[in-house]
Amino acid sequence: MSSQAKYSQPDENGYYGRFGGAYVPEMLYSNVENLKENYLKIINDESFQKEFNTLLKDYAGRPTPLYYAGRLSEKYGTEIFLKREDLCHTGAHKVNNTIGQILLAERLGKKRIIAETGAGQHGVATATVCALKNLECIVYMGEKDIARQAPNVARMKMLGAKVVPAVSGSKTLKDATNEAIRDWINNPNDTYYLIGSVVGPHPYPDMVARFQSVISDEIRKQLKEKKGTELPGYVIACVGGGSNAAGAFYHFMEDESVQLIAVEAAGLGVESGMSAATTQLGTVGVLHGSKSYVMQTEDGQVVEPHSISAGLDYPGIGPMHANLFATKRAKFMNATDDEAVAAAFELTKLEGIIPALESAHALAVLGKIKFKKDDIVVVNLSGRGDKDMDTYIKKLQS
Ligand SMILES: *Cc1c(COP(=O)(O)O)cnc(C)c1O
Repeated sequence: MSSQAKYSQPDENGYYGRFGGAYVPEMLYSNVENLKENYLKIINDESFQKEFNTLLKDYAGRPTPLYYAGRLSEKYGTEIFLKREDLCHTGAHKVNNTIGQILLAERLGKKRIIAETGAGQHGVATATVCALKNLECIVYMGEKDIARQAPNVARMKMLGAKVVPAVSGSKTLKDATNEAIRDWINNPNDTYYLIGSVVGPHPYPDMVARFQSVISDEIRKQLKEKKGTELPGYVIACVGGGSNAAGAFYHFMEDESVQLIAVEAAGLGVESGMSAATTQLGTVGVLHGSKSYVMQTEDGQVVEPHSISAGLDYPGIGPMHANLFATKRAKFMNATDDEAVAAAFELTKLEGIIPALESAHALAVLGKIKFKKDDIVVVNLSGRGDKDMDTYIKKLQS
């Protein structure tokens, strides 16, 4: 990391440019303050780093491979590498963060872990690490999501978590987040709130980005070994809240020769009214504790987002990404539901890898960029497609 970390780290109040901060109700102030005072001391401690790295290696399965995708490269006339986060334990990058935060919660003396989840991926990753550490785990999930994500609900229960339905609003992720915040307000002493992306009040975005930054740390080393350079021409990642992209971009942000490409979900089309392309549709506002771009009406009501992939179906974006967008350090592109599904089928046929629908959005922009033959392009394959088989099966039958 260069000394002037312009993009990757916030200032002491948690601001990336004009985005971020900690907008929390008074009841949570001391909790968030306590976390802010202690998180860097704890995670930079040698014993923490040792346990974190051991679990990433032996439990989560890191380092994940950087795979040269030969047939995909041929198709797009450039050199494409896939960072295989899909091979992590529990099937996606999310476990990097849950391991880190559980170790932190343990050191803060917390015995009760709460989390929110949309599709259930973050809930499963949280329940997994709580089982490992014998901690009580409560996962808030929209009632509608509980109905449509039955396998992940079953996984969480099998792992010993209590899944609590959020029955207000649209009964999806943002309502589950509201319930989790309410729980934290009511249980400020023994409870740790484990947030699943680079969102929420400071210090969460910075903390989650640091835990996920192992992705770009590995990419640099792996590229050096394979290509003799640590720097690719492009790094491409999908963005829901933005944690896998934050991890894939982190150690490249200050190297301005690396083109960072963030891909949002356009749903049925950016202008269709059924989209989750926050930077294209959002305005500056406060959502879930930080200032960022938010999809909202003129009077500040959050607009319901839509994406075929539950992991990208969020009406906001982390403050680090808001700053990358505002400063143009990263280029923001988007892919529709149909383009993502087509990209998933293409990767499966060409490389024998079934990606998560979220990751397929990142793959879907390969055809929209003019690459040179010797460009090095890294696509962060954030997760595997097992959880999306219902959607893929419907497409096969239609
Ligand atoms: C949750 C999820 C995402 C979106 O979350 P980010 O915080 O934006 O990374 C992307 N890909 C997969 C596979 C996921 O499970």
